[in-house]
Amino acid sequence: MRCPYCSTPDCRVIDSRAVDGGRTIKRRRGCSSCGNRFTTFETVEQMPLMVLKHDGSRQIFDINKLLNGLIRSCDKRDKSLDSLMALAHNIEQNLRQRYEQEVPSKAIGEEALAQLKDFDQVAYIRFASVYRRFTDIQSFKKELDVLAGHE
Ligand SMILES: [Zn+2]
Repeated sequence: MRCPYCSTPDCRVIDSRAVDGGRTIKRRRGCSSCGNRFTTFETVEQMPLMVLKHDGSRQIFDINKLLNGLIRSCDKRDKSLDSLMALAHNIEQNLRQRYEQEVPSKAIGEEALAQLKDFDQVAYIRFASVYRRFTDIQSFKKELDVLAGHE
């Protein structure tokens, strides 16, 4: 595997383990040239997951888009990129299990929220505020009450 930092072609594997109940192999790799470490995920090649949008159009599921949303929500929350990547993969795997080939765009946000709830509550609220487009303080407060277990 080529190093993403310096493009050295041969990076050694430091650690391998199965995640997602054995469907994915996660590998830590280290570059012998620049010393940087990075993570790769190995999965059986799957059919592209299609996203059905509100307007009826379809596009291919883009995990980077999801990862971006998670990174933004976890800004300054001291979460490693690794853990966010694992979270994004987990969300995708759950969606694939539930919907197989075509997932409504709404379900992606809901699945992300469901997993963020246990991952980081501040990130959850941030993600929810963007995703649900809280329009007033009342809906925001309602979400906080749900989190606090008042509902
Ligand atoms: Zn390197």
